[in-house]
Amino acid sequence: MSERRADVVVVGAGPAGAATAILLAERGLDVVVLDRAAFPRAKVCGEYLSPEAARILDRLGALKALDAAGPTALAGMRITAPDGTRLEGRYGAIGDFCPYRAHAMAVPREVLDATLVDRLRGLPVDLRERVRATDLLIEDCRVVGVQAVDDGGAPLVVRAPLTVGADGRASVVAQRLGLRHPHRLQRLALVTYVSGLPDCRELGEIFVDPPDYAILNPVDADRVNLSVVVPLAHARPWSSRLEDFFAARVRQLRHLAARLVGATRVAPVRALGPLAYRVDPPRMGGVLLVGDAGGFYDPFTGEGVFTALRCAELAADAIGRALGTRGVTVTALAAYEGARQAAFRDKERLTGVLQAVIRRRRIANLAARALARRPTALAALLGVIGDFVPPRALPRLLLHA
Ligand SMILES: Cc1cc2nc3c(=O)[nH]c(=O)nc-3n(C[C@H](O)[C@H](O)[C@H](O)COP(=O)(O)OP(=O)(O)OC[C@H]3O[C@@H](n4cnc5c(N)ncnc54)[C@H](O)[C@@H]3O)c2cc1C
Repeated sequence: MSERRADVVVVGAGPAGAATAILLAERGLDVVVLDRAAFPRAKVCGEYLSPEAARILDRLGALKALDAAGPTALAGMRITAPDGTRLEGRYGAIGDFCPYRAHAMAVPREVLDATLVDRLRGLPVDLRERVRATDLLIEDCRVVGVQAVDDGGAPLVVRAPLTVGADGRASVVAQRLGLRHPHRLQRLALVTYVSGLPDCRELGEIFVDPPDYAILNPVDADRVNLSVVVPLAHARPWSSRLEDFFAARVRQLRHLAARLVGATRVAPVRALGPLAYRVDPPRMGGVLLVGDAGGFYDPFTGEGVFTALRCAELAADAIGRALGTRGVTVTALAAYEGARQAAFRDKERLTGVLQAVIRRRRIANLAARALARRPTALAALLGVIGDFVPPRALPRLLLHA
């Protein structure tokens, strides 16, 4: 068995893990990153990047390379309510708030994640692909590293004063610490790609039709990500015939079905669910969780990658302070938990409210009609969803809309 010692071991090189490792390496720390996959790798995702994600990608030194890969610039979103009411909102300055760039991006996850990993490769970081973390090393009630195995079966131990769990929704780190719990929101996503869709280039499109919703996101010149989210219980009886279930469900979403006339599905349907789960903060020193490893709610508002990147920023600040001064005790790392909650609590409340709205046909229609009459209110809401308007500013902006 080989053993490696480092300042920090990061499990997972998705957006959360890669960004954390980049920021820690820039602080001069000796960082080992493990990922069970080799990049580029696919990931089931709606592939929308909120406008504010560009700010962090720029800070990470990855935005230029991503721009060179030719992502689609999304000027805004078009939302179709159950009764067919259509809203079209554009990203732009609202009140005192300006987006980093006045557009969101549609970008394949193979490209986004590989771009971040390429940036990682340019730094003195020990990146180990095809190496899967299997367990945590715990001594005196403290995490002191991870056990892992490569795809040839060779074991590896990495010892470090700090382990960062960035290993996504099935996080071994969170599960080993008994922190992951089911959520009462039980939904499933069905994701595929279509081509031949006219006039689908500069806006993302959302179709709300309770209990489902669907999103179209143009990731390439003639390739559109189509994600349909349904109650898990509706899909369960069809688990062996998901393609049939998907086709039937799309027919039921009548405004989506009308939009897709003439388009062709060009990829198999991939399913992922239950989407939502809760994760408690670690109660031990030596470990913290970033990105999906720390919990997930629903992809409707498309902030998962932004959240992963922002977690990385907050984590790198807390880790820098903890390693430099007090040591990586649970108290020192509590600063990260506090900062994380402060950063995301209000948006989580708003997404909860939006979920309540899109669950009920009548309320969804009323909300859509109200927003159609007040474009400034729609722009403010889009600003919050796009992560450049703080949710706390929303009531004030709505009052003046
Ligand atoms: C259906 C769906 C649609 C979504 N749409 C959007 C969207 O449009 N926009 C958006 O911003 N967000 C979206 N999200 C959320 C987004 O995909 C996640 O929030 C984001 O990927 C989180 O990044 P991460 O780095 O935390 O996790 P991941 O991207 O999952 O990366 C985790 C990494 O850890 C590795 N790993 C896992 N286990 C181990 C192990 N044991 N050992 C070593 N490595 C391991 C994996 O290989 C992977 O590379 C969507 C999510 C779903 C489910």
